[in-house]
Formats: sequence, structure tokens, C-alpha cells
Amino acid sequence: MVGRRKRRRKIIVRKRTLPKVFTCPKCGARSVVVKIRTGPSGRVAHVMCGHCGLSADIPISPIHKEVDAYCKFADMVYAGEL
Ligand SMILES: [Zn+2]
Repeated sequence: MVGRRKRRRKIIVRKRTLPKVFTCPKCGARSVVVKIRTGPSGRVAHVMCGHCGLSADIPISPIHKEVDAYCKFADMVYAGEL
């Protein structure tokens, strides 16, 4: 083993912030955005794909975040509800 040097590559890991853009379960583009609004009937997440236009309003509970709404959205797509 000659000449094997360990090179330190600087990899910038940014995991502190949750992703706000998700992959579309329908078209596969990374252009799904989630916007959470608080209305009179509770919190509603508006999930929309900027690529294929697939969108849904998903009621969520106060503990849920964007990613949870996206998971529900993806489930609905896979279940054929959207
Ligand atoms: Zn899409």
C-alpha cells in the first residue's frame, strides 16, 4: 500500500433546516412546495407541484409540519385519491 493518502474533503452538510421542496410522487420533479395556513377550521397545508400542477389541501394538526403534509399528499397520490 503505497501512496494512499487520505484526502479530507470538505462536505457541507446542512441538515438543520428541513427541506421545503419535495419530490412529486406523480411526475418525479423536485418542485413540490407546502404552504401551511391557519384558518378558522384549523391548520391546512396546501401542497402543490410546480411542475405538473398536482395540488391538494390537506388538513393537519398543530404538531404537523410541512414534511408531514407532504407524506399525506404522497400517500393520497399512491392510493389513487388524487
Ligand atoms: Zn408533479
